[in-house]
Amino acid sequence: MEQVKTLIIGSGPAGYTAAIYAGRADLKPVLYSGIQPGGQLTTTTIVENFPGYPNGVDGNQMMMDLKEQASRFGADIRDGSISKVDFSKRPYHIVDERGNEILADTVIIATGASAKYLGLADEEKYRGQGVSACATCDGFFYRKRTVAVVGGGDTACEEAMYLAGLAKKVYMIVRKPYLRAAEIMQQRVKEKENIEILFETNTLGLFGENGVEGAHLVKRKGESDEEEFDIAIDGFFLAIGHKPNTELFKDYIDLDEQGFIKVVPGTTSTNVPGVFAAGDVADPVYRQGIVAAGSGAKAAIEADRYLQQL
Ligand code: NDP
Repeated sequence: MEQVKTLIIGSGPAGYTAAIYAGRADLKPVLYSGIQPGGQLTTTTIVENFPGYPNGVDGNQMMMDLKEQASRFGADIRDGSISKVDFSKRPYHIVDERGNEILADTVIIATGASAKYLGLADEEKYRGQGVSACATCDGFFYRKRTVAVVGGGDTACEEAMYLAGLAKKVYMIVRKPYLRAAEIMQQRVKEKENIEILFETNTLGLFGENGVEGAHLVKRKGESDEEEFDIAIDGFFLAIGHKPNTELFKDYIDLDEQGFIKVVPGTTSTNVPGVFAAGDVADPVYRQGIVAAGSGAKAAIEADRYLQQL
């Protein structure tokens, strides 16, 4: 059976950065790219907030560059996903989707999180053309324009406030008659003059010739006074929560109540010695590429130190 020092699961900025550092430490890392090679950044267009790119960089290009950089230092980057892990004893036993078995002394979990979408066909149709799940990434493109944010939680309120600082007008589309966010956030959005909250409203679809130009909405769906109406918008932002990709690990790794991996604060160590977590999979707070890359570097350094102690 194949035996590796460091197995990295996931190919976003956390996974690739871990691979660069582990490669340079001569750990000969093996990295599985997973179902979305390159991760969430491949779903945005231009990344403008990653330091070092004064003119921004295409998300796909940045991930290809990171991949190439990791390969240059000897990372063995493989297509495909991991389908089973056994962290009950070391070396850890891993099985990929083709049934190949691997024994790993250390594992870096960098499987990321996936933004939740409503499940509308139009979200796919306009992905990257007006539909986004990250105001911090894409809000800049909507300066002085009109956007909508779906959701009524803390993330939706934060995103709406952020966008309100850039856009001419922000609609919040909230399915309940109230917001779920912390009181202080609720107050802020309610007091912000260019935010309009559409309560008891659901999205039926989006329309537009060249990207999003508007949304079909329904108020009080299923009630006798149900009313369909359209709003004109240039951007449609989802903020209905993120789902960390931790299903595979839940029998062994401690997760918080939202399913994110719990790490020892300030480190990437999980409850299983030699298993580290980096990037969005362990980050319910920041969810930024640069933060993920930084934690990937930490995970590889910690894996190297752990191996030296064995
Ligand atoms: P939440 O789960 O708190 O809120 C999700 C929101 O999206 C809710 O308003 C929910 O509506 C709505 N929603 C969910 N599914 C749908 C759907 N299919 N259609 C329409 N609306 C939908 O997620 P958040 O990402 O906002 O927050 C996650 C956690 O992180 C929370 O614990 C939050 O407090 C925390 N957080 C804290 C921050 C801070 O303290 N600064 C910042 C950001 C997040 P409904 O209410 O009807 O379920």
